[in-house]
Amino acid sequence: MLLEVRDLHVEFRTRDGVAKAVNGVSYGVDAGETLAVLGESGSGKSVTAQAVMGILDMPPGRITGGEVVFRGRDLLQLKEDERRKVRGAEMAMIFQDALSSLNPVLTVGDQLGEMFTVHRGMSRKDARAKAVELMDRVRIPAARERVKQYPHQFSGGMRQRIMIAMALALEPALIIADEPTTALDVTVQAQVMDLLADLQREYHMGLILITHDLGVVADVADRIAVMYAGRIVESAPVHDIYKAPAHPYTRGLLESIPRLDLKGRELYAIKGLPPNLTQIPPGCAFHPRCPLARDVCRTDEPPLYEVSATRGSACHFWRECLDG
Ligand code: SF4
Ligand code: MG
Repeated sequence: MLLEVRDLHVEFRTRDGVAKAVNGVSYGVDAGETLAVLGESGSGKSVTAQAVMGILDMPPGRITGGEVVFRGRDLLQLKEDERRKVRGAEMAMIFQDALSSLNPVLTVGDQLGEMFTVHRGMSRKDARAKAVELMDRVRIPAARERVKQYPHQFSGGMRQRIMIAMALALEPALIIADEPTTALDVTVQAQVMDLLADLQREYHMGLILITHDLGVVADVADRIAVMYAGRIVESAPVHDIYKAPAHPYTRGLLESIPRLDLKGRELYAIKGLPPNLTQIPPGCAFHPRCPLARDVCRTDEPPLYEVSATRGSACHFWRECLDG
């Protein structure tokens, strides 16, 4: 395993008390594999990724337990300067909002080039050539000219390609992409997602794709981990999930994907809201919103039941869910 997150716990101190953002998350990703981490906002998917990257705001965020084992060592035990070396060079992150992640007063060539002058000790001229090469790689037309332009001169989709180029620059073993296409138009979304999937294969990287949209991951993910209230509620190969979800929350997400063939039909939206993380409901955290909930769900927290050798569900009634 390239990366293994084991029983991770993260808390935030808020005015209302301690928010339990991540409550015992375990997942893994191999080289050449894509793991999609799915959930609504506040499910803990981004916070888990930030803990992996070592960019959790602290305080008030605090890792209270677990391990992040990357290439055989627990990153949580490293000193900050060792951690910094891992970041960028061995693992990189792509965020939703390229415009606020790029420096508006530097040309994209200078920003891309900096990766090579700072981290690889290259001359400016060589770094510039590398920047052009990277822009070609992420399929930005006329890279040789556009390398001299500033971020605001690019469209949203092109800017996101530049973010991907930055992440790829040092050829990391793992990329974490947090909602990389959420801010883009649907057609541009698909192009950027295809590009990311192609590059992931080409470089044989591990990719963690964080999204709230089950619709965008079908073609690119190998596995899906569904998060709710800081826990993984279902984890499975992507095809298993699409065939039949083994958790009512996954089912709700699936039924919320707009489908052209069902145009006009009202979309099933999961009723209610995700819980306040300072007051996670007892038993199964999903019970106030679950159409299958019964008494035991209000008192007994479901473990991640083994549905198959490659699949887990944290639902007492996963069999029933699976049978539809
Ligand atoms: Fe619903 Fe109960 Fe399963 Fe939770 S354990 S998802 S409340 S049926
Ligand atoms: Mg997020």
